[in-house]
Amino acid sequence: MFNQFLFTLFNSTKEMSTSTQILGSIPVDPLTGAISVPIYQTATFVQEAPGINKGYDYSRSGNPTRATLETILAQLESGTTGLAFASGLAAIDTVLKLLKSGDEILAVDDIYGGAYRLFTKVYEKFGIKVNYVDTTDLEQVARAFTAGTRLVWLESPTNPTLKVSDIKAIAQLAHSNGALLCVDNTFASPVVQKPLELGADIVMHSATKYLGGHSDLIAGALVTRDEELGAQLKFLQNAGGNILGPFDSWLIIRGLETLTLRIKQQCASALAIAQYLEQHDAIESVYYPGLESHPNYETACRQQKGFGGIISFRLKEDTQEAAGLFLKQTRLFHLAESLGGVKSLCCLPCEMTHKSVPREKCLETGVTDGFIRLSVGLEETEDLIADLEQALQGLNHTVAAVVEESLAAC
Ligand SMILES: *Cc1c(COP(=O)(O)O)cnc(C)c1O
Repeated sequence: MFNQFLFTLFNSTKEMSTSTQILGSIPVDPLTGAISVPIYQTATFVQEAPGINKGYDYSRSGNPTRATLETILAQLESGTTGLAFASGLAAIDTVLKLLKSGDEILAVDDIYGGAYRLFTKVYEKFGIKVNYVDTTDLEQVARAFTAGTRLVWLESPTNPTLKVSDIKAIAQLAHSNGALLCVDNTFASPVVQKPLELGADIVMHSATKYLGGHSDLIAGALVTRDEELGAQLKFLQNAGGNILGPFDSWLIIRGLETLTLRIKQQCASALAIAQYLEQHDAIESVYYPGLESHPNYETACRQQKGFGGIISFRLKEDTQEAAGLFLKQTRLFHLAESLGGVKSLCCLPCEMTHKSVPREKCLETGVTDGFIRLSVGLEETEDLIADLEQALQGLNHTVAAVVEESLAAC
């Protein structure tokens, strides 16, 4: 009986980052036995003699609380070096500093708005070119490499249309063309997908989202497998000062303690909600990699352990008015940017998260006026569905009432 239990436990350990694994990687304080990681809120460390210290000299270069988080992150993403940043964008910014003028980036077309802004409005003026392609199409990816391509930038699943790209195949293409592959793993989380195991060189997170998990901080992360690449990024992090403070590092560690449980519940709820939305009359299409109707469903099944907690959908009435009404009527889904927290959120990407992406580019990738993104939290699944039901019903009533009014006016 016990053996049977152990067998299933280890078997599932292989498949997912379990709570057991994550909790096992969080150390007990060797000095005091404190079970919670101490917060070393200090700028500097007193030295015994010039250059003789206990491993730390200044908190930008290294801080024990941040170092603990960085070790946990490295293990969680199957890497050797973990780095914690002041934000997800600070992490991306540090990766871009590996490049020099004349280098090119091959990037996923349906990219996070802030990454797009950093690539085009900041780095292009330093002579770095970005080539956006539909990375779900491997032939397009293969054709897009040039002699200057040094970095492939992927998000999978993407924000907000949840496109899934074949990480393993793209890693091979990148390497045979002399480029590094960096995967923004924010949407999947390491519980659902481990890009380094699929061949990526760098994995990046906005730790603001699932890793922190409580919508109470801004943070970012990078993990590499190659120690030399890890050392280069650590050098750039220290040189630019893009570090996460001790208290926020501690908050992320605390968030990680429940990561597996949160993600399992969010994946289960999101799948049920996506199925519910797909059969609803007021909805034109649902974007969720766990639906068989999703164009990349097979890739998602192959490379992910779950389908994540984000769902996007387009209303049949594809207007900002209809979307606005819907967003006003939800009660459990709060209208806000961000995702990955315990409270469910909803947003209108074209006006909010993707405002910095030109409108034509948004429309090209399907992010229209009636395109809504949901982040599924930890409320009961049936309560979340009931909330969507009443908001969609209200939409029908209101639209019907408007039509009636305008008919009466005739
Ligand atoms: C939020 C987000 C980022 C940016 O992270 P910040 O922590 O907000 O700087 C990058 N990529 C994705 C996919 C995100 O959702």
